[in-house]
Amino acid sequence: MTTAFSDYLKQHDYKNFDLKAVLFDMDGVLYDSMKWHAKSWKETMDEFNISSTSDEFYLYEGMVGRSTINHLMNRERKRDATPEETDAIYKRKTELFSEYNDGSLIPYAYDFVKQVHDDGFICAIVTGSGQPTLINKIETNFAGLFSKERMVTAFDVKHGKPHPEPYLMGLEKAGRLKPNQAIVIENAPRGVEAAVAAGIFTIAINTGPIPEKILADAGANIVLPSMEALYTNWSEYRKQLIAKAD
Ligand code: MG
Repeated sequence: MTTAFSDYLKQHDYKNFDLKAVLFDMDGVLYDSMKWHAKSWKETMDEFNISSTSDEFYLYEGMVGRSTINHLMNRERKRDATPEETDAIYKRKTELFSEYNDGSLIPYAYDFVKQVHDDGFICAIVTGSGQPTLINKIETNFAGLFSKERMVTAFDVKHGKPHPEPYLMGLEKAGRLKPNQAIVIENAPRGVEAAVAAGIFTIAINTGPIPEKILADAGANIVLPSMEALYTNWSEYRKQLIAKAD
């Protein structure tokens, strides 16, 4: 596992990590919400007579809603979605999601964030979500561990994941950090691509139905089966991330 860290340093021409912040994706990393997103998307698309499968929405995770809508519209209707269609579809999806989402956390998400916070690192959220319900819940479920000023949401960026903009803004909001001063925790291939494009060491945790290989192929430096595995491995990883070059 040590090689994942040294390979990154070599590839990016850094002498060492200098960890200051951990950037967390939200859906599927902190909250066990992806199953509700997928269900809401599928049912919305059915209502609008746009063909889709539940599982494909795990692949689009991290993209902003309008990009997902436009992708399906181009595939199924061979044209872009109009602004009115985009608004109507996204509104309905948001309604259904609010109805279904039970707000449950990914097991060990709280424990891991608390550990990282107690270790003295900044915890920040970088999400493609524009769901006000979830964003407000952060303050309840992770009291004192994240600050609103350090949160990047769908409202902050022009380009969603897989574009690097959200994670570049995450570095900026975490304190104008360089890529080797942060790591990213992601669960979605598009999110991994975004983090890797921003030049940040990326740990993927596979909390959904997609094969681990897709996360590795997206460029994740480490792929783990769960947040529990990350929590268990953290003390070893932390040694690598604060190690100074000799
Ligand atoms: Mg996610």
